[in-house]
This record gives sequence, C-alpha cells and structure tokens, in this order.
Amino acid sequence: MSDFFDDAVLIVGSAGMKKDKALSQYTTFRIGGPADYIAEPQNASQITELIRLCKRYDMPFFILGNGSNLLVSDKGYRGLIIHILEGMNRIIIEDNRITAQAGAQLGRVAFEAKEHSLSGLEFASGIPGTIGGAIYMNAGAYGGEMKQVVSSVRAMDMDGNIYDIPCSEMHFAYRHSLIEEKNLIVLETVLLLKKDRKEAIEAEMLRLAEARRLKQPLEYPSAGSVFKRPEGYFAGKLIMDAGLRGETVGDAQVSEKHCGFLINRGHATAEDVMQLISHIQKEVHRQYGVRLETEVKTLGEF
Ligand SMILES: Cc1cc2nc3c(=O)[nH]c(=O)nc-3n(C[C@H](O)[C@H](O)[C@H](O)COP(=O)(O)OP(=O)(O)OC[C@H]3O[C@@H](n4cnc5c(N)ncnc54)[C@H](O)[C@@H]3O)c2cc1C
Repeated sequence: MSDFFDDAVLIVGSAGMKKDKALSQYTTFRIGGPADYIAEPQNASQITELIRLCKRYDMPFFILGNGSNLLVSDKGYRGLIIHILEGMNRIIIEDNRITAQAGAQLGRVAFEAKEHSLSGLEFASGIPGTIGGAIYMNAGAYGGEMKQVVSSVRAMDMDGNIYDIPCSEMHFAYRHSLIEEKNLIVLETVLLLKKDRKEAIEAEMLRLAEARRLKQPLEYPSAGSVFKRPEGYFAGKLIMDAGLRGETVGDAQVSEKHCGFLINRGHATAEDVMQLISHIQKEVHRQYGVRLETEVKTLGEF
C-alpha cells in the first residue's frame, strides 16, 4: 500500500522530504511543535504535484517561507509544510531588472542589487523574509514597501494554473496583497530598480542596519512587530504608554527595547505568546479604545 511520505519522496526526492520535524527550527520565534511532513520543492511543477498529492490524501498543506512572520502552535501542524526556500532561490539580474524566485532571501536580493549598483531595495535589506513572504505581506520598512519595486509576480493557484500578475493588479496595501486574498502561491517576481552609485546604496543599507540594531531586540528570537500599525498610532508606543514594557507571560516578553516586538527569552511557548498578545490587546483597548490587530500569522491549533 502506498503511503503519503513515500509518494511525496517520488516528487521531491528523499533529501527534499522530512517527517515529524519541530517547526521551532523553521521559525525566527524558535517556537512551534512538530509538522507531520515538510517538503522542499525545487520548482513549480513539484509544487503542483505536491498539492495534487495532498488533495488525493485529503492532507492539509501550508506554504512556508523563512518563518519570520509566523507563530506556530505548540501542537505543531497536522499536514504538509511546503517549504519554499533554498530549492527555489535563484536571482537573475539584467540591466535594472531583477527576477528573483520565491525562496530567495530579501537580504540576499538587496545585497545583489547593491552589487549591481541598483537602488530601491535598501529598505528591505534587514527584513529577514523570503521574496514569497515579502510579496504575500507587502513587507515594508523605513518608508519603502514591496509595492514600490515589484513589476510583476508569477503566482500559482490551487489548481496549478500559473499567472503573471502586474503590480497594478496585486492589490498591494499595508501588509496585504492579492496573494493572501486569493490564496495563491508566489513562484517568482520581477523587480524594477534604478541605477545609482554603489557607495550611496551601501551607505543607506548600513544606516538602516544600524537603526535596526539600535531600536530592535535583534539579539532575541522574535517575529518582528507583532501588531499592525493602527491608523493614527504606533503599536509600540501604545503598548509602552499602556505600561506593558517588559511584561511577561512565561518566557514571552514585551521587548524593553521596542514594545512592538514580543521576544522569546529562551523557552517561550506559543501559548505564552498568545496569552501575552491577548493581554496587550485588552489593556490597549481598555486604556486607549484602540483595537490592535496582529500582523504575525498563526499556524496550527490554538
Ligand atoms: C527581526 C525581524 C524584523 C522584521 N522587520 C520587518 C520589517 O521591517 N518590515 C516587515 O514588513 N516585516 C518585518 N518582519 C516580518 C517578516 O520578516 C516579514 O513579514 C517577511 O516578509 C515574512 O517573510 P517569510 O518568508 O519569513 O514568510 P513566512 O513567515 O514564512 O510566512 C508569512 C506568510 O507568507 C506566506 N508565504 C510565504 N511564502 C509564500 C509564498 N511563496 N507564496 C505564498 N505565500 C507565502 C505564508 O503562508 C504566511 O502566511 C520582521 C521580522 C523579524 C523577525
């Protein structure tokens, strides 16, 4: 009798398939129980075949990038994680055009852009996600966002159809895109940048890296800012003003350096983080009447 794991190995090879792996190793929060299966596809047709297999076995699946905006349940995930990372991380640069596959790290793409004297991705150099996750989230920082540099996105739907979607149809908004709306999978993107002096690009990247180092608790595992910016406010400031700086539940803590970040001080569980999130939401609402919405995505049972 065939079994899901063996059938998946036929698609991605034995090196590309894992079983019962702790997802804490796959998230920047370093939190999360085991996933039943993890597959690392090398191309779009392997993704299509994996989805077909999941349908045949009635197996849920989830697309994972670098896990830098994700809180995974302590119970883990019952299903297949399709991990789009190193197997699909090619970057091609022609003139001022960069074609980057979904698994390419933003920091690497920004570095390559700088090496080719291309400006526009400086804002993204310190965001620890993949191109796929950054498009899904319309990641942004320091006045920049993916929307400003994306020319088009190649994406797949759940039936394996592939579309080239121009930026104007991507419904990019604050931490939102068509990918999330329509449950699509990012395969690659074309970015359009501008020629500039390499020294100027490098100086800007160093300036932003220093700003991050000074303001963000990069020495602890986290998922970055946990809450979206509420209209007219800053989440971190509201949390600080509500007296929640340094607040802890178990090993989860409101960072003393940047109150918008929740950090894992060692052995935080997803449950700790969830309790802290809900406590912050209640307090901020009670004191300021503002509802904080989470930016971090959750996976698994809570
Ligand atoms: C220290 C730190 C600093 C951060 N700073 C910033 C910042 O300045 N600005 C900012 O915007 N974010 C920031 N983040 C959050 C995070 O890095 C971004 O949201 C990033 O874009 C997530 O990418 P990822 O590959 O890690 O996605 P994941 O966390 O793996 O996934 C996030 C979501 O994207 C989906 N997804 C991932 N890949 C694909 C794909 N190929 N196709 C379809 N869906 C996909 C997942 O299903 C999930 O729903 C920070 C995080 C950390 C830890």
